[in-house]
Amino acid sequence: MDRLILGHAIEEWIDKYPLLDTMIKLEEMLWLNPKYSSYKSVENKLSIGEDDIEAAEERLNRFAPLIAKLFPETEKSRGIIESPLVQISKMRYELIKLYGDIRGKLMLKKDSHLPISGSIKARGGIYEVLKHTEDLALENGLISLEDDYSKLADDKYKEFFSQYTIQVGSTGNLGLSIGMMGTQIGFKVIVHVSSDAMEWKKDLLRSKGVTVIEYESDYNKAVEEGRKLSDRSEKSYFVDDENSKSLFLGYSVAAKRLKKQLDEMNIKVDEEHPLFVYLPCGVGGGPGGIAYGLKLIYKDYVHCFFAEPTHSPCMLLGMYTEKHDKVCVQDFGIDNKTMADGLAVGRASGFVGKTLEDLLSGIYTIDDKRLYKYLKILADTESIYLEPSACAGFLGPIFINSEQGQKYLEEHNLQNKMQNSTHIVWATGGSLVPKDVMGDYYNLG
Ligand SMILES: *Cc1c(COP(=O)(O)O)cnc(C)c1O
Repeated sequence: MDRLILGHAIEEWIDKYPLLDTMIKLEEMLWLNPKYSSYKSVENKLSIGEDDIEAAEERLNRFAPLIAKLFPETEKSRGIIESPLVQISKMRYELIKLYGDIRGKLMLKKDSHLPISGSIKARGGIYEVLKHTEDLALENGLISLEDDYSKLADDKYKEFFSQYTIQVGSTGNLGLSIGMMGTQIGFKVIVHVSSDAMEWKKDLLRSKGVTVIEYESDYNKAVEEGRKLSDRSEKSYFVDDENSKSLFLGYSVAAKRLKKQLDEMNIKVDEEHPLFVYLPCGVGGGPGGIAYGLKLIYKDYVHCFFAEPTHSPCMLLGMYTEKHDKVCVQDFGIDNKTMADGLAVGRASGFVGKTLEDLLSGIYTIDDKRLYKYLKILADTESIYLEPSACAGFLGPIFINSEQGQKYLEEHNLQNKMQNSTHIVWATGGSLVPKDVMGDYYNLG
């Protein structure tokens, strides 16, 4: 490769950033963020505050009556879209047998089973559609903030919203969330999908009346084309997965809800009871928003790690080189081809990388083969079925037990607290996967 990347030959890059060599060889690795800092030392420069997250939560609460009406599956939770947090002791035991010790509890946050769209995108994606709905409804005098929003389910409002279009670029799951909620409100929805998107996700979207436009290229291209097309029309709104603060806030609400679940289960998070959270990362909005929310609540007591496929380590590349969205994995000959379709992103969000700069503990990469293996072990031990992307978190507790992980524990004085720790693997999708597709995944494991 003799092409220059931002004016430098690849050898110069590797000299300056030696871990690039490991990434280019597609080897699994754990990167510890050298800029990770104590919460107190960075608190003053945080750009998104607790009040922003609270406002997002209140907005979701205002829409809850409407959601309960439009999606009967959410009636029981009164229109609150939330997922279970469960302990997975049998899975833990199996992982210990295969890979060595995991000190502390192992838990699974089942965003795979979020109502409506069965993935983490039901947080950010749906939130942004609702935010846009509220903005339009307020501007046009259809509602006031004190109203019961369930009245928006009436046909006359649907007709109003049908003048407007929402567009989004997606590897599949974001499109599903925007499509499911958008069409129910009455919007026209256009989803621009990358070549990685699964057939069944496209079929499901079309069955909901969503227009699906396919691209031969990858996710970042689908976003670019979608943005261009949307900008041409005044009545079209583009959900910008790479830069959206709304999406980020929608995701961040998860942290407050998680705290409530941990409290109810009497699971402590404090100086003596550290919390480790492992989040699969694509462009970064989902894991970034959640990690950010958790840091605001638990500060130095929570340790957040992102997980990326060895073939798509875009956030690692961006944060490690501090070049963020100025570089993509393809620049370095990494092909961005992974079966973890939800994580198949070559260029990370610069907004998320910079926002998490001092807050994220580290990032690790994982081989596709391992995803299927974890998928099968989880199915066998706990009868829980996830999509491949959602299994990336399971390598986290194993990496923490590695030499590199021990270094992190020592640096942060955690060694003697690990028996009191909690590890949460964030399971980001899976409940909508058709049975035959899931059967294939399982057999690959
Ligand atoms: C989108 C997605 C992620 C990651 O979210 P980003 O916001 O793209 O980083 C993880 N898992 C699944 C299943 C997803 O669909």
